[in-house]
Amino acid sequence: MTSKPNYLKPTNLESPGARKFWEGLRTGKFLAPRCEDCGELFFPPRAYCPECLKDSFAWEELSGKGFLYSWTELFFSLPEFDTPFLLGLVDLAEGVGRITAKISGETAGGLYIGMPLIIRISNPRDGMALYYAEPLCSE
Ligand SMILES: [Zn+2]
Repeated sequence: MTSKPNYLKPTNLESPGARKFWEGLRTGKFLAPRCEDCGELFFPPRAYCPECLKDSFAWEELSGKGFLYSWTELFFSLPEFDTPFLLGLVDLAEGVGRITAKISGETAGGLYIGMPLIIRISNPRDGMALYYAEPLCSE
């Protein structure tokens, strides 16, 4: 009998636009592509620059800081997830895009629009790492 991991692997691990993002997570870095043609920094990663449609990128590490745009609390999910859990949309502090992330370390009642959050990277396992968001306390 094989055991199932308690998470789902992303389906775009090997896509041309996202492979370096997932590789960055494995090394503890939250990366975004910058177009080598027009200089646009954007997120989420994709195969082509959203500004000029070229496909040559340099990768830059982002701060991981952001602000809560919206969230929902999920009470039903796939069997791999413990419910309930919070799922948020986080505007990245660099202003380059928005990321969907599970929120840890807070209850639904403690969340508010614009709440400072930080993207944390889980310890790699099975050759991959995932990310989540948690409240950013003033440091
Ligand atoms: Zn471009």
